[in-house]
Amino acid sequence: MTKDLAAFAKEKGVKYFMISYTDLFGGQRAKLVPTQAIADMQDEGAGFAGFATWLDFTPAHPDMLAVPDPNSVIQLPWKPEVAWVAGNCVMEGKDVAQAPRNVLRRLIDQAATEGMHVKTGIEAEFFLLSPDGSQISDEYDTAVKPCYDQQAVMRRYDVIKEICDHMLELGWGPYQNDHEDANGQFEMNWEFDDTLATADKHSFFKFMTKSVAEKHGFRATFMPKPVEGLTGNGCHAHISVWDAPGPKAKTNVFATESSKESQTSELGLSEKGRHFLGGIMKHASALAAVTNPTVNSYKRINAPRTMSGATWAPNSVTWTGNNRTHMVRVPGPGRFELRLADGATNPYLLQAVIIAAGLSGVRSEADPGKRYDIDMYAQGHTVRGAPKLPLNMLDALRAYDKDKGLKEAMGKEFSDAYLKLKMEEWNSFVSHFSSWEKENTLDI
Ligand SMILES: [Mg+2]
Repeated sequence: MTKDLAAFAKEKGVKYFMISYTDLFGGQRAKLVPTQAIADMQDEGAGFAGFATWLDFTPAHPDMLAVPDPNSVIQLPWKPEVAWVAGNCVMEGKDVAQAPRNVLRRLIDQAATEGMHVKTGIEAEFFLLSPDGSQISDEYDTAVKPCYDQQAVMRRYDVIKEICDHMLELGWGPYQNDHEDANGQFEMNWEFDDTLATADKHSFFKFMTKSVAEKHGFRATFMPKPVEGLTGNGCHAHISVWDAPGPKAKTNVFATESSKESQTSELGLSEKGRHFLGGIMKHASALAAVTNPTVNSYKRINAPRTMSGATWAPNSVTWTGNNRTHMVRVPGPGRFELRLADGATNPYLLQAVIIAAGLSGVRSEADPGKRYDIDMYAQGHTVRGAPKLPLNMLDALRAYDKDKGLKEAMGKEFSDAYLKLKMEEWNSFVSHFSSWEKENTLDI
């Protein structure tokens, strides 16, 4: 039954709703709507000028309406008189095909017609910086190997605990928090869910983490490589496919069905799981345009060794078992971890591109190729035939543009809009005059 937002407000004491949508660059845009207006807005949506955000519209386009999806509503644990709700973008009565949440919804429906219901868990790493973003917030956090640093995580206990308490209250099933591999970096994990739910939670987690950090006088960033020489912010995704959505899911389609199959399958992935993985491998260079969407993303992948000893980010399109030096790790039966995405990835497009590539793999019975059970950081040069990941955003955009199958699966309208705006961003970057050029060219 559809949730009535006005009744929800009355029951929970909500005074304002943030009707929110996410644009192509991952920016969250919202209108604050008083509760007395929410009943109308639930039917009609809140109006936005699409051109004013990162969507491919002109100022002449009609109003874009964000129609709240009541299933996504979340009362802000740190400000209970406000509730956030994700909106689906509509223009002139039709879904806006380029809007990221609509791209994902369409792919979820497609997968469902083929009996596949993708579930994911994500690891949204972040840094806590000074308010102006120039320094790590904790001046004592200087260890060469700061991962799991007990003392450092306790110096930020008030922030981490507050966010974790909020997740407990929201019923997300958070289960661990740690200091990550870079100074000033943290990771908090909660349970996996259907892709739309994970994307909404991912969006809300970023909003919540930034809000709680600001309250404590810090700045939280998910930027892929915010500090030169330190490990970057990954956004690893753990992927499995089930027979039904939500709590109705009983069978993991990726897990091997019989003991006979598990004896012959690689690392406990079913045939369908292997094909899904095959699709991810096949489209990897192209999907990097979505999983690694910024200029800065390419300072994290293909990066030189960090101060801690490893980047923990991939360089090549390879997969393996329980080994974190590859793009894909199969840590146990029935699921795999895609380690490619970074903190700048759009929460909805990340899930969409996983489904698009995976479905393409299942349909074409794609083979993930040879498994390399080696330390890619030390022995990567011995691998022949595994493609290198794109070296920069332009390479990734070109790879996406060339990948007709993936472009079509993500939707023509979306792909055209995304490529257009991202190419404009790339052009803006290359026209920027940098000090590096002067330092290296002045005396030539
Ligand atoms: Mg991590």
